[in-house]
Amino acid sequence: MTKAVIIGSGLGGLEVALLLAKRGYQVTVLEKQRHLGGCMQSYRRGNIMLDTGLHYVGGLEKDGTLYSQFQELGLMTLPWKRMDIDAFEEIHTPNGKYFWPQGIDNFIHAMQQYFPDQREGLEKYRILLKCTDEEWMQQTSAWDYINSIISNPELVDVLSAPAMCKMELRRLTLPLFTFVHGTSAFIESSWRLGGDGNMLVECLVRQIRQYGGKVYANKEVCRLVETDGKVTAAICQDKTCYEADVFISNVHPAVTLRLLDDSQVIKKIFRRRLASQENTVGMFTLQLQVKPESVLYLNRNILVIGQHGVWDNAIEEDYVVKGIMISFPLADVIDGFATCIDILAPMSWDAVKKWENSQVFNRPDDYKEMKACVARQCIRMATSVIPGLEDSIQCMYSSTPLTYRDYNASPQGSAFGYRKDFRNPLMTVISARTPVHNLLLTGQSLMLHGLHGVTMTAEHTLKSMGVN
Ligand SMILES: Cc1cc2nc3c(=O)[nH]c(=O)nc-3n(C[C@H](O)[C@H](O)[C@H](O)COP(=O)(O)OP(=O)(O)OC[C@H]3O[C@@H](n4cnc5c(N)ncnc54)[C@H](O)[C@@H]3O)c2cc1C
Repeated sequence: MTKAVIIGSGLGGLEVALLLAKRGYQVTVLEKQRHLGGCMQSYRRGNIMLDTGLHYVGGLEKDGTLYSQFQELGLMTLPWKRMDIDAFEEIHTPNGKYFWPQGIDNFIHAMQQYFPDQREGLEKYRILLKCTDEEWMQQTSAWDYINSIISNPELVDVLSAPAMCKMELRRLTLPLFTFVHGTSAFIESSWRLGGDGNMLVECLVRQIRQYGGKVYANKEVCRLVETDGKVTAAICQDKTCYEADVFISNVHPAVTLRLLDDSQVIKKIFRRRLASQENTVGMFTLQLQVKPESVLYLNRNILVIGQHGVWDNAIEEDYVVKGIMISFPLADVIDGFATCIDILAPMSWDAVKKWENSQVFNRPDDYKEMKACVARQCIRMATSVIPGLEDSIQCMYSSTPLTYRDYNASPQGSAFGYRKDFRNPLMTVISARTPVHNLLLTGQSLMLHGLHGVTMTAEHTLKSMGVN
């Protein structure tokens, strides 16, 4: 039996582990945190469960882009609930309010009703959403392409708004491929999980164990042992050692290479390339617990955009919030009322860099003041579209890119891993193979992020191992 060690229990690590276990591998997953799941985990605060990186998923309808993969992973047994077909995204700009319906043709029709003079451009957008030509889209700027077919800046913002917290909307670098993949599957169909993220994590872990695999928390891998050009063991912080034939890292690629500091095989140039690669922005997340029966649950997301627009609008050193996404966790609904509301806003590393040497549970007061200031702005924006929200808040919890850096070992607290760059796709799309032939990579930094992207990447990692 081939032995595989998987480092990290994020979605990518657990998916690869399950797919290998189902194919007869003897798998062991090592997770450094107390909780399994990486960005998929949920955690308790008081009497509520809070999610990290699972708000909604696209493409789960029969024959949808993610359906067959989730079927194979046993994830279609979970209680997914389709979001409002006629309005799964509600977008507020300074000039108007727009609803996105599900289904690409319905969506284009709705946009043509809002913007009749953009009919022709929207026909091209319809073709784009159905396009699968990867190479061309990898080398094309999302910002330039959308602006070449759509001449109304308000429509550009409306078409991009839901992507604001799903990817890094950066004019200078974002490939059209990343934009389309993070958009079209959600327009096909959008779903919320009728439970917290742990439900998804437990579903994967349970199956891995059923196939004889082992999954351990509190196992931080601090070194990979290389002998005769291949990795032979993973050494954990607690001095335990796991030997295997193949090792798959779900940890950020630059962090993975640091586990192999004395490698004879990895050349300096490869190290330098991965270490110098830029990371995407992080996220400010605000989770509000609201008073019972005070805020109606909405089966859609709300996007609120300020004067600045949607692109390049991360919170920076000025701490000004330029746009937010409001999501209603389905797990916490009681009699049609929300008990929790999540608010997200993109936040750059520069906004928190000055506190980079501080530790969790021991952050300085000015950091806490900054978080409170950003939270107030988010609440003000959210209250402008959910009247009375501010008075309904019972308590709140917030996190910044520093939190993600410290919990997930995500460099600079990046929310979506490596930044992809249409000007240099060959350098920014990372192969699952490494110079050490039995060490492979998986996870959001390689090709695409999000549940959709990480699942595609897990399949790609298996293919790179020669496993079908
Ligand atoms: C705020 C936010 C909201 C999001 N919302 C959505 C959404 O609604 N829909 C969607 O599709 N996507 C969403 N995403 C994106 C999605 O959550 C991620 O793309 C995906 O979960 C990343 O999975 P991963 O396996 O690549 O990495 P991770 O989840 O980061 O997993 C890496 C794991 O490795 C572990 N690790 C690190 N170092 C070590 C070590 N030395 N030893 C052992 N273990 C280690 C970490 O603790 C972690 O568990 C969101 C992301 C964020 C940040």
